Amino acid sequence: MKTQVLVIGSGMAGCAAALTLADQGREVVLLCAGDKLTDGNSALAQGGIVYTSPDDSPALLERDIVTCGWKYNNLSAVRVLARKGPDVVRELLIEKLQVPFERADDGGFHLTKEGGHSLPRILHCADSTGWSIMQHMVRAVEAHPNIRVLTRRTAVDVLTSHHHAALLEYKYQLVNQCLGAYVFNEVAGVVETILADYTVLATGGVGQVYLHTTNTRACVGSAVAMAYRCGARYLNMEFVQFHPTALFHRAERRFLITEAMRGEGARLINAEGEAFMTRYDTRADLAPRDIVTRAIMEELLKTGEDCVFLDAANHVDNVTKRFPGIAKKCAEIGIDIAKQPIPVVPAAHYACGGVLVDAHGRTTIDRLYAVGESSCTGLHGANRMASTSLLECIV
Ligand SMILES: Cc1cc2nc3c(=O)[nH]c(=O)nc-3n(C[C@H](O)[C@H](O)[C@H](O)COP(=O)(O)OP(=O)(O)OC[C@H]3O[C@@H](n4cnc5c(N)ncnc54)[C@H](O)[C@@H]3O)c2cc1C
Repeated sequence: MKTQVLVIGSGMAGCAAALTLADQGREVVLLCAGDKLTDGNSALAQGGIVYTSPDDSPALLERDIVTCGWKYNNLSAVRVLARKGPDVVRELLIEKLQVPFERADDGGFHLTKEGGHSLPRILHCADSTGWSIMQHMVRAVEAHPNIRVLTRRTAVDVLTSHHHAALLEYKYQLVNQCLGAYVFNEVAGVVETILADYTVLATGGVGQVYLHTTNTRACVGSAVAMAYRCGARYLNMEFVQFHPTALFHRAERRFLITEAMRGEGARLINAEGEAFMTRYDTRADLAPRDIVTRAIMEELLKTGEDCVFLDAANHVDNVTKRFPGIAKKCAEIGIDIAKQPIPVVPAAHYACGGVLVDAHGRTTIDRLYAVGESSCTGLHGANRMASTSLLECIV
């Protein structure tokens, strides 16, 4: 098979890349390892996506991102996201795809706040923002005449001129070019060669490397592994973000309790009922994620308890209406979030590092690109700020 563009991974980053390129008239093949385009982390996103508010500015957003990232961020990547982000959200998600973000009583968007943000600037669809956005994106992808979707196809390795070319002249060239990928076709049980003028890695995060993670089974770090094998640079892999509040229960995947719940007022308490975060940081429950996670770990080590608790019942109005997905999940294990605190523990959540790319998504291998969580623009520095990840997928 031969195509102009091969996009590996069908989360928000892969779908956005496919749609953009297809709109420009390119012929795109979009691969997904699972049987549905929504098998990645994008469809699980709860809290929302960074937008803007009347009191907001690109400079303020930049400052918040860099503070959360411990000033280890690539400032030019931060600037691109902060300046372009709101326009891209408006043009792609609000106007083109018509994602039904939640409205406030005055008819404007309901904006929520999460850890590290100076003010409410996050758009959401109740507590299933990623699912709503992906429904609209997948519909657009499947309807696009220039996009061919192939499910149950797992990319095994990218093809490069230095490693795989039969003609000697390619081996002696200084530039190593990507020419497509070897792909395991799960339906036919064979490995196929897909040749492409341009290849885009969009395989998401690495959560499944850890025992306890919020990530789906698709997130095994394929892009970084393929990049490593073909000699592309990758960066900041040591900065794996552990989300402070995953539901404490026995399951294959940890269910996330969104940070937006703390944004709406919920407070972390220990087994004695003490709201302990004020002892660790002046921003208390809305300190950046790494600080909250470390505080929880310290509490657990000190007390010997298995988990801490998130008290939404006493602090969030209409909590089951605002967070229906979480209310339903907790009810399944016998917790009424309108009456009881939710048992939570930290879990591996997000890879701040990935395949090194520039502002155009170019890797250090010619004709090979990377986008979304599998890439590293340096935007997040050492620690990602909440709700910037979905935005990075589309900017
Ligand atoms: C529970 C949860 C909640 C979150 N909430 C938020 C939030 O509210 N706001 C926010 O900004 N971020 C949030 N995040 C982070 C965000 O969802 C992800 O970082 C983002 O969706 C990643 O998108 P992606 O397109 O890069 O990857 P994904 O959406 O994970 O998609 C990866 C795709 O790659 C495919 N794939 C993987 N390996 C291969 C392979 N070898 N061959 C072919 N295909 C392959 C998979 O099948 C999948 O289609 C959350 C994450 C989780 C886990």
